[in-house]
Amino acid sequence: MGAPLDRSATWPYEDGEPGRFSYVRADHPTGVACEAALGALDGGYALLFPSGMAAVTCVVLTMLPPGGTVALAEGAYYGHRTLLAHLAPWGVDVVEFDQTGPPPAEADLILVEAPANPLLTMPALEAAVAHPAPVVCDATVSSPLRLRPLDHGCDVVLHSATKILSGHDDVLAGVTVARNAEVLDRLHLTRRLTGIVASPDTAWLVHRGLATLEVRLARQEASARVLVDRLTGHPAVETVRYPGFSFLVSFDVADGEAAGRVERSVRTIVNATSLGGTRSKLEARHRWEGDRIPTGLLRLSVGLEDMEALWADLEHALEQA
Ligand SMILES: *Cc1c(COP(=O)(O)O)cnc(C)c1O
Repeated sequence: MGAPLDRSATWPYEDGEPGRFSYVRADHPTGVACEAALGALDGGYALLFPSGMAAVTCVVLTMLPPGGTVALAEGAYYGHRTLLAHLAPWGVDVVEFDQTGPPPAEADLILVEAPANPLLTMPALEAAVAHPAPVVCDATVSSPLRLRPLDHGCDVVLHSATKILSGHDDVLAGVTVARNAEVLDRLHLTRRLTGIVASPDTAWLVHRGLATLEVRLARQEASARVLVDRLTGHPAVETVRYPGFSFLVSFDVADGEAAGRVERSVRTIVNATSLGGTRSKLEARHRWEGDRIPTGLLRLSVGLEDMEALWADLEHALEQA
């Protein structure tokens, strides 16, 4: 049925020469099968990584010239901001910009996010790709079923496959999908030399998740839409952010204390970090991100549970807000 799991670290030479697979750090059959499926979804050349952060690290090492400037979408995934700050001693410069408009002129690499987690703004892709620098789009929250950034002229798509692609909160993985084979080869070389390679087990789990991606996303999205409508009218809720599709919602209650009471009151929804899994999860993001995020902001990743059960849980928790 699915691609077999081959945990070999090395394969015999054929007629005294390395065949398609020789050593696991370069390529392995379980990974290549998963990458073919991921590449088809996004319309490009996919590479699998042991985490979303490994994927973005490979992109920065490969595509940013030494001493170059990354233009990073404001309010986008916090890990990208902290990684780039960590790389400052290596000459990596960062400017944050409002991704609903054009990137700053000085950018050597543009990193946008569709939609940004957790503020859920969408990038102006047309303005981004008009800039001469390569454009990388983190589309973790859209998934290739709702947005194919390469079709809009982006150079590379990033996914944290830990989220909706694998979908079961049981694997850490990342993906890059390049629009052309030259960028693929450069990313692959960095991956092979640095050894930031996903294991066959990881590849197998990501591939398994893809078989149910469409039905999971459709149900999670349908529930998210109803919850967004109901949250929008709720007296304890001040702001609701939702890009109009997919499974991720963020909404604000009065302040950090109210958000904490909601976190401690949910039962069906798990008070935990991460997103895109079968179980719904909610957390206040201010604890991680500080002042860039409103103190009362709660990020809700809608899962596969019965929608009315989720609303009953939220309604009860919001009474404590
Ligand atoms: C989680 C996440 C990442 C990081 O991925 P990991 O798999 O946790 O390393 C990157 N971008 C977005 C939008 C994410 O949600």
